Amino acid sequence: MHAADDPRYGRFALRTDCPACGSHLPVNGPARAVDCADCGETVEVPDQLVVALLDAFEEAWPDAERAGSSTVGDITWRWTASPVEPTETSEATPVYDAPDWLRRAIGSAAAVLGGDPDQRRPPGGDRPVALTCPSCGAGLAITSERARVTPCDHCGSQVHVPDAVWRVLHPAHKVLPWFVRFNGESRKTRAARLRREAQDRESRSAREREEQRRAEALRAEGERAEREQRARQARRRRLWITLPLVAAVWSGALLAAGLTAMFGVWLALGPNAARLAGLKPFESLLVGNGVALVAIGVLVPTWILGIGTARFYGGYPLLAVVAWAIVMAVLCAIPFAGLVFALIFALLFLRGREPTVSKDERIPVLASAPLALVYATITAIAHLAYVGIDF
Ligand SMILES: [Zn+2]
Ligand SMILES: [Zn+2]
Repeated sequence: MHAADDPRYGRFALRTDCPACGSHLPVNGPARAVDCADCGETVEVPDQLVVALLDAFEEAWPDAERAGSSTVGDITWRWTASPVEPTETSEATPVYDAPDWLRRAIGSAAAVLGGDPDQRRPPGGDRPVALTCPSCGAGLAITSERARVTPCDHCGSQVHVPDAVWRVLHPAHKVLPWFVRFNGESRKTRAARLRREAQDRESRSAREREEQRRAEALRAEGERAEREQRARQARRRRLWITLPLVAAVWSGALLAAGLTAMFGVWLALGPNAARLAGLKPFESLLVGNGVALVAIGVLVPTWILGIGTARFYGGYPLLAVVAWAIVMAVLCAIPFAGLVFALIFALLFLRGREPTVSKDERIPVLASAPLALVYATITAIAHLAYVGIDF
């Protein structure tokens, strides 16, 4: 594992065999063409080959030690790539910017060190070599510009330049190591960093979500506590106001019912009532009517208190409660038919279904039962009064 990520260096070698003469042909840098030292053939080096070589290196860095071959068209190229420490490149000259076509393909490839991308001739390669024409004996000055088989300047016959002379003029290209400096994060480091950042983001957002959830739960808990507190206060208030009301309604309803029963008995006894009670007839009439009046006198405030109780317990709009109570009272006050209504109402009341009473489980029995009694009493009074008038 190389410590240095940015910049990082790779050593590369690329070579093939000349397609014209088969001699060894090294490519000493990211060149687009090389000349064969033996036959002078110009061989194009595909851009994609160099790009793929550097791209694979970058993709694999830091484990980018590779060797292999690639065939493009009908030429097979052999290559090696290996990561190196910066110190290994210190002697490498020249140093120049990576060519534009390469930088466009591999953005991180910043500079090339060493090698010999132009396949320059060593100094002295251009000095002419003296040769004698084997045909006319004239002296010939052969330079590296001349072809392998070159015409004599004097007799015009074709002269084959001997191997030794040719080799001096065209020294074989040596394989020179060349390096590429890559700037910026390596792909693996970058990928690791992005992964780490994504994880950080993920865990941060998870933490935020968790905090949000806790805050939400806390708020909900607070709201629930507050709601319960309010409900408790409301229950207490209802208890203190409505329990005395319920007691009053119960007492009133029972008293009115009792007096009504007495009035009923007095009506049933008729003239015998005065004799049984040891009263004079007009006194008996006074007592009987008095009992009826007191019963009604108790019944009306009891009924009003009952409405108030239903209102407090049920929390229904006052107008609705009063309107409903009046309708029921009127229906109950109809002789004969009132009996049926009173029966139905009593049933509804006892089941806690009538609409003026709270939905609270305990309340309907407290508030409804005396009201049912009140309506039954109203029915009884109306009925007895009707029968009594006849009587
Ligand atoms: Zn060649
Ligand atoms: Zn000649």
